[in-house]
Amino acid sequence: MSRYQARAHIDLDAIAHNFNLAQQLAPSSRVMAIVKADAYGHGAVEVARRLKDAAAFGVARISEAVKLREAGIAAPICLLEGVMDREELNLASIYDFQLVVHSPEQLDLLKRQAARRAIWLKIDTGMGRLGVRPESAETLINDLGAQRLLGLMTHLGNASRPGDAMTQRQLNSIRTLAASLKGAAPESAVLSIANSAALLDGQGLDAGWIRPGVMLYGATPMDDLVPRRDLQPAMTFRAPVIAVRNIRQGESVGYGGIWTADRNTRVAVIAAGYADGYPRETAPGTPVLINGERRGLIGRVSMDMICVELHDADVVRVTDQAVLWGAGLPIEEIAQSAATIAYTLMCGVAPRVPREYRSRAVG
Ligand SMILES: *Cc1c(COP(=O)(O)O)cnc(C)c1O
Repeated sequence: MSRYQARAHIDLDAIAHNFNLAQQLAPSSRVMAIVKADAYGHGAVEVARRLKDAAAFGVARISEAVKLREAGIAAPICLLEGVMDREELNLASIYDFQLVVHSPEQLDLLKRQAARRAIWLKIDTGMGRLGVRPESAETLINDLGAQRLLGLMTHLGNASRPGDAMTQRQLNSIRTLAASLKGAAPESAVLSIANSAALLDGQGLDAGWIRPGVMLYGATPMDDLVPRRDLQPAMTFRAPVIAVRNIRQGESVGYGGIWTADRNTRVAVIAAGYADGYPRETAPGTPVLINGERRGLIGRVSMDMICVELHDADVVRVTDQAVLWGAGLPIEEIAQSAATIAYTLMCGVAPRVPREYRSRAVG
């Protein structure tokens, strides 16, 4: 593997630490660790192998679930969007996946097959995306046939904003529903509510299940994007310096010449660009760590490179490693500079970037 390209170091111990933190926030809940989108770019198989205490794993696509099972992950795997047709349902039966049912059509699909599946009924309590309305839940539960109900799932739309009124309305809605259904189906008292934002804000901690995603990878989902020191960043995105240039006063750097030297300036060229997942929208001045020092991005982000302004006294050599985000440089800060959120940076690290794993755990 070439040393002269961008790489993502993945600290599996940090992910285990963050998992334990989620569990401590809701000590009596079981944890469905969310590993969709290849564990937010961290590698779902490696993450799932490390998280031996997860009671289940949650993914978005059936291909993601199959990949985990084929890699030997024996824990329950839940398809958070359920299945869309008979072919997917057959696969779900073969591999023994839990299914979310979010529409009457999905329930009909299940009922046309003999196989008995473990399902979560998804309730739309106000986010307006997937789920059946609370008032339809009882009819659907009475109509489950052979399907085994695991509980009720709902997703919070505004939990990243502490004190938001919608979160309270959603929590009230699912709890009221659960209480009203308890007689008909005791399983409907088992609730799965909290994502990372809810957990970090202390909402929905009393439910039977929690569903942390982004916090497992060490980033905060909160709107203020203030990094939390009790979360350990799992991904450090690095790339080497491939040239150090002397740019003369008045000369410009990069596409469009949007940066011009106002004095003679040394510039480091780093081998990471938007084709590696460093967003093109990242603002000039965004910090990059070179030999542990913060230096500012200049000019436009190219496909394979970025340029960084050095200080006169900096001793920087070709092959020195720069940190684009991660250890020592919070991903939330870079996300803010690129007008986005940590999720898209993690998920956006390109397939051409090798992941290198670190774990002190044995086995
Ligand atoms: C992605 C997802 C989660 C995890 O969300 P985070 O904000 O990453 O914690 C939880 N539940 C569902 C249904 C999801 O799709």
